Amino acid sequence: KKYFEVNKIGLLERLLREKPIYVKALDDINLEIYSGEILGIVGESGSGKTTLGRILATLDVPTSGELYFEDDKITKANLSKIRGKVQMVFQNPASSLDPRMKIIDILSEAIRKLPKEERSKLIRNTLEEVGLDYEYVANKYPRELSGGQLQRVAIARAIITSPEFIVLDEPTSALDVSVQAQILNLLVKLQKEKNITYMFITHNISVAKYVSDRIGVLYAGKLVEIGEVEEIISSPKHPYTQSLISSVPSLTKRNLTPPSGEVPSLINPPKGCRFNPRCPYVMEVCRRAEPPLFEIGGRKVACWLLDQRYQKQ
Ligand code: SF4
Repeated sequence: KKYFEVNKIGLLERLLREKPIYVKALDDINLEIYSGEILGIVGESGSGKTTLGRILATLDVPTSGELYFEDDKITKANLSKIRGKVQMVFQNPASSLDPRMKIIDILSEAIRKLPKEERSKLIRNTLEEVGLDYEYVANKYPRELSGGQLQRVAIARAIITSPEFIVLDEPTSALDVSVQAQILNLLVKLQKEKNITYMFITHNISVAKYVSDRIGVLYAGKLVEIGEVEEIISSPKHPYTQSLISSVPSLTKRNLTPPSGEVPSLINPPKGCRFNPRCPYVMEVCRRAEPPLFEIGGRKVACWLLDQRYQKQ
């Protein structure tokens, strides 16, 4: 079932206060999110992935395009209906949790409308669900907990309101590798048990592969490829996705081939395909025209190589 539909979403961002420069942090993004799935969103910094997550978590409003929630167009009038169903977990729990509040109060605030007794029971249960001991953490302040414990608290705060959809923005990037694995397993377990829909944002394609059902790849504010995780990992079609996958270190691989060059500045992005200055397969058309999203099987890829006219015979 289609849960969210993102239709030509764009966001203009103001960069400087004194002499404003506007950049398209997101440009014409089209995608769907299905109920009960984990959609991984992968990209380097500056690709627009957090901006997309914030729009879906209703924290930012797009400057163009439309957003549909269960077939209803999201407008200012019905935003509150969606807000209650959506949560976001951020990369750095230390800065997303109020340092002056005890853990019990942080969680209590999220469910302040419930009667006191119900609240206490729910807080106890939720802390247990995320693997924390109520007696140990409830009366502590965030500074008294480790990074992994804090991220568990942040996850508890997100799930305590029984959301249908959670945007996870690099939830394990600030953690040690061993703790990362524990948090990933916890998130996958909670998603399955509660049938929550996730958008999982990460710069790490291995992490995306581990958790996701489908993967969407963003590059410089554009969606360049989206499809089932096995297909994307085993046969990436977009040259950028190919280079992301071949730059993942493994215990057996010695030759890494990361994409050459830098992510382009959004102030003055390249004409045509934004990946063209870094692409080993660049053609004349790539420098003049932006590729549309071509559909092949269940996959969508924004690259002229998928157009029959440019395929080598
Ligand atoms: Fe490379 Fe052209 Fe495809 Fe862009 S459209 S990824 S430049 S081949």
